[in-house]
Amino acid sequence: MKERLIALYELQKIDDQLDQLEALRGDLPTSVGDLQIKINQIDYALEAKQIEITESVAKRSKQESEMEKYLENQKKYKSQLYSVRNNKEYDALTKSIDQAEEEIKKREMESSALLDRERILQEEIEALSPSLEELKDELKGKEAELKTIVKSSEREELKIRETRAKIEARVKKGDLSKYYQIRKAKGGRAVVSIDRKACTGCHYVIPPQRQLEIRRMDKLFACESCGRFIVPVEVAEIVGK
Ligand SMILES: [Zn+2]
Repeated sequence: MKERLIALYELQKIDDQLDQLEALRGDLPTSVGDLQIKINQIDYALEAKQIEITESVAKRSKQESEMEKYLENQKKYKSQLYSVRNNKEYDALTKSIDQAEEEIKKREMESSALLDRERILQEEIEALSPSLEELKDELKGKEAELKTIVKSSEREELKIRETRAKIEARVKKGDLSKYYQIRKAKGGRAVVSIDRKACTGCHYVIPPQRQLEIRRMDKLFACESCGRFIVPVEVAEIVGK
């Protein structure tokens, strides 16, 4: 039974070390993820604007070639005005000239609206681009920082994980699954010891009778207040740290 308690306490201690390594990385992994999302969003917005500009340019070019056609027709009608034989022919020609004029005007207006929109889009692209560059630089910096930290602790982490595997093999299966449950619920510490009659996890003062039972080390106890596994100070002393 004593061995069972020691194994659990050792597991907690080694996981504390891994938690510390993780804490060294701080919020860097989250920052990197957030930056990547922001960059993707801006990239996507820029691409959509660029596509809209390209489509607008194509529309305008189509309108321009149509306008040229109407202008040519108009010129042709105007030259025919000199050779009309009667009023009816004259009226028909002037009507065609006016219609062509209308079509030209319509396309001019549409083209100018498209051009205005293109200018706005271009301004938006120019406004977004510098912040995109800034974010990309920031991401590069944070990624490098994270890489350095991970690399510097890589060996240490490997060694800890090897030791941890040996300790874990000594922990009872049932204890292990409970350990993970408590660890998840309590944000890290699942096994605690008694210090000055109190649970070191929640500072609940343990009744003297229960303290005695815990010190006997013939049963696995959980703190009545916080639910963490509780071991006597003797176990903590054997394991050390
Ligand atoms: Zn407690």
